[in-house]
Amino acid sequence: MDTDELAQRLRAGERRALARAITLVESGRTDHREQAQALLDALAATPGHALRLGLSGTPGVGKSTFIEAFGTLLTGQGHKVAVLAVDPSSARSGGSILGDKTRMERLSRDPNAFIRPSPSQSALGGVARRTREAVSLCEAAGFDIVLIETVGVGQSETMVAEMTDLFILLMAPAGGDELQGVKRGIMEMADLILVNKADGDLKPAAERTRADYAGALQLLRRRPQDPDGFPKAICVSALEQAGLAQAWADMQALAEWRRENGHFDARRAAQARYWFAEEVRRGLLARLDTDAQVRARMDRLGAAVAAGEITVARASAEMLALLGAAP
Ligand code: GDP
Repeated sequence: MDTDELAQRLRAGERRALARAITLVESGRTDHREQAQALLDALAATPGHALRLGLSGTPGVGKSTFIEAFGTLLTGQGHKVAVLAVDPSSARSGGSILGDKTRMERLSRDPNAFIRPSPSQSALGGVARRTREAVSLCEAAGFDIVLIETVGVGQSETMVAEMTDLFILLMAPAGGDELQGVKRGIMEMADLILVNKADGDLKPAAERTRADYAGALQLLRRRPQDPDGFPKAICVSALEQAGLAQAWADMQALAEWRRENGHFDARRAAQARYWFAEEVRRGLLARLDTDAQVRARMDRLGAAVAAGEITVARASAEMLALLGAAP
């Protein structure tokens, strides 16, 4: 199948074409890369209009239970929902917990949902590009809500927040009365904190935890991209499917407000600029490893520096000159 045909089928919403297109953007092969770029070019003419949601939470907090219930709620309202995952552990192990199909059994059988596990790749930067491109592909295939899930570990959260319109943190009820060591940086990224498992015996703890987070959010600097009352913390139960409609109403209200006030488009524009700069940086760094001539010179100059034959300043200036990046 050539790129034009693939683009056409994908636009028609054919799931197999979508799966195939994602495989293409995930491929490391040079010829695939060229085809992937041609495909993205072809699709750029008719961009999608999906709402991109980022969802983060530590393992066991209930992400897959939540996505299963929330995704089903959305498809029940006529939405088409794509679920992508960014799993930093898959980069190392090659296997992905987020790729386990049985995690969202019902949603994976829903004709209006599409679930794709995390690409396994050695570097998070590579995963970022592939996931962003997969988002565009899902949008072009007619999915109007794209949910990107990640586990709550550092870098991957920032990455997901940088490619989504709304960033949602899923939290568990705290045992004691202390906040669960959530880093300030993560709190600052959150648009909505959902305290999950607010059911049965855990309900009072969930409510206390919610109040703690609400208080912590109020202490953060007011952001221009937020209307009154945001960012906010609410209780949900993914298991009992409670609070999900409220969570969705909050997400819609926030997205709507940002659209009307120009923050929605401004965020997307800033994200495009950010990823452009990231890609250039990544490409430059990659040359240090992939370009044989560059590597040979690095080795030679490295040895000379170690032997005290040349200063670090001279050696690095020479290297940067070779890269066309003289300071
Ligand atoms: P993930 O690792 O974040 O994807 O978490 P899972 O969705 O796999 O859930 C981990 C465990 O928490 C499972 O045993 C779920 O049944 C349970 N769980 C998830 N959501 C809820 C909830 O709303 N209430 C309760 N009580 N348990 C839940």
